Amino acid sequence: MNWSLFKRFIPGKTAAVVTPVAIPRGQHPITHALISANALKVLHRLREAGYASLLVGGCVRDLMLGREPKDFDVVTDARPEQIRAVFRNARLIGRRFRLAHVHFGREIIEVATFRASPRAGAIDTDEATDAESGRLLRDNVFGSQEEDAVRRDFTVNALYYNYRDDSVMDYVGGARDLKQGILRVIGDPVERYREDPVRMLRVIRFAAKLGFRIEPASAAPIHEMGMLLLEVPPARMFEEVLKLFHSGYAVATFELLRHYGLFKFLFPLTEDSLGREQEGFPITLLPQALANTDARVADDKPVNPAFLFAALLWEPLRFAAGQRIAKGQPEYQAWQSAAEDVLRSQLRHITIPKRFSFPMREIWLLQTKFARRSGKHAWRLLEHPRFRAAYDFLLLRAHAGEESRELADWWTRFQAVDPAERQAMIDALAPSERPERKRRRRRRRSRPADHAPQQ
Ligand code: ATP
Ligand code: MG
Repeated sequence: MNWSLFKRFIPGKTAAVVTPVAIPRGQHPITHALISANALKVLHRLREAGYASLLVGGCVRDLMLGREPKDFDVVTDARPEQIRAVFRNARLIGRRFRLAHVHFGREIIEVATFRASPRAGAIDTDEATDAESGRLLRDNVFGSQEEDAVRRDFTVNALYYNYRDDSVMDYVGGARDLKQGILRVIGDPVERYREDPVRMLRVIRFAAKLGFRIEPASAAPIHEMGMLLLEVPPARMFEEVLKLFHSGYAVATFELLRHYGLFKFLFPLTEDSLGREQEGFPITLLPQALANTDARVADDKPVNPAFLFAALLWEPLRFAAGQRIAKGQPEYQAWQSAAEDVLRSQLRHITIPKRFSFPMREIWLLQTKFARRSGKHAWRLLEHPRFRAAYDFLLLRAHAGEESRELADWWTRFQAVDPAERQAMIDALAPSERPERKRRRRRRRSRPADHAPQQ
């Protein structure tokens, strides 16, 4: 039997018959006042042009929960080209998933066309999915609103808000799952994870963010399917990793990723080092860095991917540098080559664009310089463009007990006081740190394991 033909004509489980339920105004908390004015503008303009227009996805989910949405996603029956014709300020983006971005200054309203699952009887099924893995390569088969609902990832992400009559449409039991705090994959979880392994990361991100439980049938396959993440293009993984760790719930996300055995497919070297160090010396730097990141997001402070990746890869770097130093490599050279190796190995899984990997490496390598404060060293370090990030990283290391508090405190004070006092601080350093060239060289050679990892 030709199974691909069979699949084409018999809709899979994901295309199950759905009974739409409309939740009328007043029976849910969404009102126009809670919606971005620009999103309302987009909904209205599409409507005026004769197209369907609804809010969908995370914004409806978050509004239903009484939370402020991160952004507003609009869905319509207009094709991408037609959307562009309606808005002067629209740009079409994406290949795998083509949609329009409507720009209003800094706010972007994402407008997508109703789509069907390419598996559910679509004409170009074979082109759009990889026959062997079942992975979706493209997701541009347009469809009806019902079809659009069942091809979404989780029931709570498939609610539609109609701004005209203030009703919420629910095709897949999303409202009930929202009420009960449950994340449930729409359709057969194994098939849906196979189509797009990133959905496993998404379910974890939402579980962490919303504090929801993952329904057992949606949770169970994750333990066995994590390796599919290795097939996801590294550039997409980079985007996902930022969403995982920069959304304000990094600590919970990290714990869930490890619980479900997914972290090792994102950061294999880090996973190894976590296992290695856990006996006796629990690793505290990374959890602390993630906790700090969450606190910054909560305070609306900027977060930096370079710093995040510096923390995520710090343990493998420290280990690799320590090994080199133990073999007699000069300290700075050891850190440099360890940094190259760790980065190269990580890039196989996740792209780290150069604009982040360069500063990441600087944050790392500057760590070797904090101990040398005599002469002009401290002054020079203070003027380094990456000083602030490197100092923040030093604080993390001191907090984790791998660098002395005294050193971290010295640098905290050094920044706070005026220049005259700074010089006095340098002059007051112990004789061993004074700028005596010969002495310093001897010291460096006689203590090659200065920065070796503490076991
Ligand atoms: P966030 O709060 O992070 O924006 P979100 O649910 O809006 O969460 P988006 O990535 O903005 O997430 O996606 C918008 C909607 O598109 C989702 O709610 C979901 O319905 C659908 N979607 C996104 N990614 C996928 C995917 N990989 N598979 C199926 N549906 C998806
Ligand atoms: Mg969204």
